Amino acid sequence: MAEWPEMTDRFETLTVHAGAEPDTHTGAVVPAIQMSTTFKQDGVGGLRSGFEYGRSGNPTRLALEQAIATLEGATHGLAYASGLAATQNIFYLLEPGNRLLMSDDVYGGTWRLADKVWRRYGIETDALDLRDLDAVAAAFAGGHPAQMVWVETPSNPMLKVIDISAVARLAAVAGAITVVDNTFATPYIQRPLDLGADLVLHSATKYLGGHSDVIGGLVATRSNALAERLRFHQNAAGAVPSPFDCFLVMRGMRTLAVRMERASANARVLALWLADRPEVERVHYPGLPDHPAAGLVERQMRVPGAMLSFELRGGEEQARRFAGATRLFTLAESLGAVESLIELPAPMTHASVADSPLAVPPNLVRLSVGIEAVEDLRADLEAALAASAS
Ligand code: PLP
Repeated sequence: MAEWPEMTDRFETLTVHAGAEPDTHTGAVVPAIQMSTTFKQDGVGGLRSGFEYGRSGNPTRLALEQAIATLEGATHGLAYASGLAATQNIFYLLEPGNRLLMSDDVYGGTWRLADKVWRRYGIETDALDLRDLDAVAAAFAGGHPAQMVWVETPSNPMLKVIDISAVARLAAVAGAITVVDNTFATPYIQRPLDLGADLVLHSATKYLGGHSDVIGGLVATRSNALAERLRFHQNAAGAVPSPFDCFLVMRGMRTLAVRMERASANARVLALWLADRPEVERVHYPGLPDHPAAGLVERQMRVPGAMLSFELRGGEEQARRFAGATRLFTLAESLGAVESLIELPAPMTHASVADSPLAVPPNLVRLSVGIEAVEDLRADLEAALAASAS
């Protein structure tokens, strides 16, 4: 595995090979899933290959951790039982009295964990529009500066795009940690560590797994000091994934590049089509020429991604009828898989942020565009628009 980055830095090749070398003993092209929870010691403390107990480390998990490190251009990768378990592990880096700055548009569960759980332990979280760099600079100055900034870009569900380099530069000057939730973009589209971020987080449940059949979380970093502290808490708190889950995430990652390319191309077609529809008030998609950060999207992202949201003129009632009328787009939470999904963020994924600064419009529909034939996806949306008109 370690040789691949030296052999090539082409992402498409790395995705196929990272963490998936043939087994050195058997030649098996797909490495075996190692289910053992404990490892024989040669005398007390004599660890044969560094593995001791399955919560602390496991060969299958290590392969996944090395794979995400390779794809994100990191030196350390860490795997968790879910994206939120990974988020929790990063919050352990904070101390009581610290202040966390968070994008004002993030996955509802991330905000809920900070606001409803960690606030009780003395971590103060402020929601901020991180596109406003003067406000970010002010938050790192003054009497109570922030120790960590949480960037989600493109954001969930309004598809805001934040300048990772600019935020990371301001944070670095203040000695604060920059975290980027790269779930929507994946390392195929952007690599936050190359742009100055300290930590990258993924809900591997989404594009990395890619098939709606595994819950997982990942973190990658180039910092030895941060990795050491994260690794301590990964073992101490124990929210680790099973070897089988690690295998499933790795299997998904091998097709990441082709899935992202195809899904993103589909999303661009649908976003342009929706933007011309009279029933649609506004489309949020980084690939539209009138996206507020179109120039930044061009610089920061390889392709605009496969997530989009839009607001219907007929309000919440039409949005509910519409989301219940599609046939190929399945009405379900989550995102990032081969099949297309539809949801209403306000009553579903973002219900936990109602009445908070992160509340989202009630007529907002979110699409996770999959890899089906785009003509079929467009026909499905067209039929649902007609069905939801009255
Ligand atoms: N980050 C983002 C952007 C998400 O969309 C999600 C889940 O929807 C999470 C983090 C949390 O991940 P998980 O559901 O794997 O705990």
